[in-house]
Amino acid sequence: MTDRYCVFGNPVAHSRSPAIHASFARQCAQDIAYEAILAPLDGFSQAVKRFIGAGGKGANVTVPFKEEAFRLCTRLSPRAMRAGAVNTLAFAGDEIYGDNTDGAGLVRDIEVNLGFTLAGKRVLLLGAGGAARGAIAPLLASRPASLFIANRTADKAEALACAFADLAMVDAGNYDKTAGSRFDLVVNATSASLSGTALPLPAGIFAAGSLAYDMMYGKGETPFLAQARAQGAAQLADGLGMLVEQAAEAFFVWRGVRPDSAPVLAALRVQLAA
Ligand code: NDP
Repeated sequence: MTDRYCVFGNPVAHSRSPAIHASFARQCAQDIAYEAILAPLDGFSQAVKRFIGAGGKGANVTVPFKEEAFRLCTRLSPRAMRAGAVNTLAFAGDEIYGDNTDGAGLVRDIEVNLGFTLAGKRVLLLGAGGAARGAIAPLLASRPASLFIANRTADKAEALACAFADLAMVDAGNYDKTAGSRFDLVVNATSASLSGTALPLPAGIFAAGSLAYDMMYGKGETPFLAQARAQGAAQLADGLGMLVEQAAEAFFVWRGVRPDSAPVLAALRVQLAA
């Protein structure tokens, strides 16, 4: 019997997850089917229950349902509990298990694919929404020298710093508060690139040899990466690697097999550029 998986989102037609998981399944000789399901904005939990009823074994969850998925679960991984959001569901009997692989995917892309060691580095995280929240514990687990969370709405960044204060001293504030500091890694976890808005980054925040990482990806350079290049970042990376790595981690949660993400990422990169 072919095991069924899916990604729930709204919108979801653009999702690359079906292609990524089909590649993983072929590579690992796993008999699975994976589809994209458009859940109504007010009908996420019904869509999940329908999928379980039809024999679904697991699912990914994307915008805007990650927090709702968190609330729907009967059991959560420690990293999902920390993130307050779920991007990976696994179904067994009456249990709905929730995990969050986004942060692990980000860190794996940075450390393994890009070869950038986080230990001892000064990290600036831009944004204080769901993606930023999911990244904090995995980033801190790699022992950076410091973490600063900057957000347009400073209160939200400060609340996040408090929520993770048991793990490490985290500084927070608005963009102006980063003036005069230098960072080895700047991660854009805002959705500002979607509207093409430039972030008010003070001059001089990119240290020599720094990496600018945008969680967003698309054809060509994102607005944040163009800005980072102009402000002197040495290395630039978009979020396509994070997307593939969070998927590989979800595949491992479901199937107990870790796919080789490198050829899948390379193929996706070619498709994206076409
Ligand atoms: P949220 O809506 O939860 O958070 C949005 C954040 O962006 C907030 O901090 C908000 O600030 C900030 N923001 C929005 N517009 C602007 C602007 N014009 N100027 C400054 N700040 C702005 O979004 P998510 O956290 O879910 O997603 C953030 C990004 O991460 C998206 O682009 C998403 O595509 C990407 N992502 C990529 C993944 C991958 O696998 N590559 C996985 C998950 C997310 P404020 O609080 O002040 O409103």
